Amino acid sequence: MKIIGIESTAHTFGAGMTHNDKVISNVVDMHIPKEGGIHPRKAAEHHAKIAGKIIKEALVKKPDYVAYACCPGLGPCLKIGAVIAKHLAIKFNIPIIPVNHAEAHIDIGIKTTGAKDPLIVYISGGNTQIIANRRGWKIFGETLDIAIGNAIDKLARHLKMAHPGGPKLENLARNGTFIKMPYTVKGMDLSYSGILTHAKNVLKTHSKKDVAYSFQEHIFSMLVEVSERAVAHTGKKEILLVGGVAQNLRLCEMFKIMCNERGIKLKVVPPEFAGDNGAMIAYSGYLKAKQGFTIPIKKVNYFQRMRVDQNLQEMFKV
Ligand code: AMP
Ligand code: MG
Repeated sequence: MKIIGIESTAHTFGAGMTHNDKVISNVVDMHIPKEGGIHPRKAAEHHAKIAGKIIKEALVKKPDYVAYACCPGLGPCLKIGAVIAKHLAIKFNIPIIPVNHAEAHIDIGIKTTGAKDPLIVYISGGNTQIIANRRGWKIFGETLDIAIGNAIDKLARHLKMAHPGGPKLENLARNGTFIKMPYTVKGMDLSYSGILTHAKNVLKTHSKKDVAYSFQEHIFSMLVEVSERAVAHTGKKEILLVGGVAQNLRLCEMFKIMCNERGIKLKVVPPEFAGDNGAMIAYSGYLKAKQGFTIPIKKVNYFQRMRVDQNLQEMFKV
């Protein structure tokens, strides 16, 4: 079973192929705005422009199915993916599989790390969620305002760093010293907008590296705290980090300390599959195809707001 997967939910356009459960290609191209944050229409224009080239590179075999990320994401970007899925379905005369982008992050994380039944910490530019399987995905905690990656990118942008700011801020933070900042955890949820405003303000009186270091220490501690509570509650024996922010080494180190103290395992999705990519959509599509979930062309649709605990099959019912 060979599947081409299309990712277009936000800043990244990606196409990748799987042959049964093996990834055989994975090509991505990220839209980098000249200034400011991501504008949905500009990102969609990028995707439309680059799609042909990326898909050509990714199509290393003739596909039997096309999978596309149908949710959640930015409307104009999702639309490009849906249109491309239809195009490929007609071109190769193959069925279509809609995939939840968040579930794809989880599926590829489990596949590449060999995790069995982990607590999932999904941390990316647009999401911050603590998820676990309890007869279906359940969300145990999440951000009440902006996503962790978004908070990082916004502070980095304030520091005149090009998008994506995560790796640059991580470098800058390496030699900083600690400044106390707001720490906002509410039960199982957390909030990042207050600390972001605070961090921007204290840049007037503190060095960039101290602010970067302290910002990271606080936002990561908040995440580790709610994750630890979720582990205590669910009794899971593994934590799996997925999404672009999982590439941060300091974050992994902090999770490792907590996991060691609790005697549980830490698994981290490999960098190639951490950020948005097409191979994860193909792989998640493979799992769906095995269950017999495909849709005809006339059913192709996309949903900007769709949570991982909502039933995707229901959304595509005739
Ligand atoms: P995604 O939305 O899953 O594609 O992930 C993109 C997000 O991951 C962006 O917000 C990046 O800034 C963030 N990111 C990537 N690498 C790192 C890193 N080393 N540290 C922190 N954040 C990162
Ligand atoms: Mg993502």
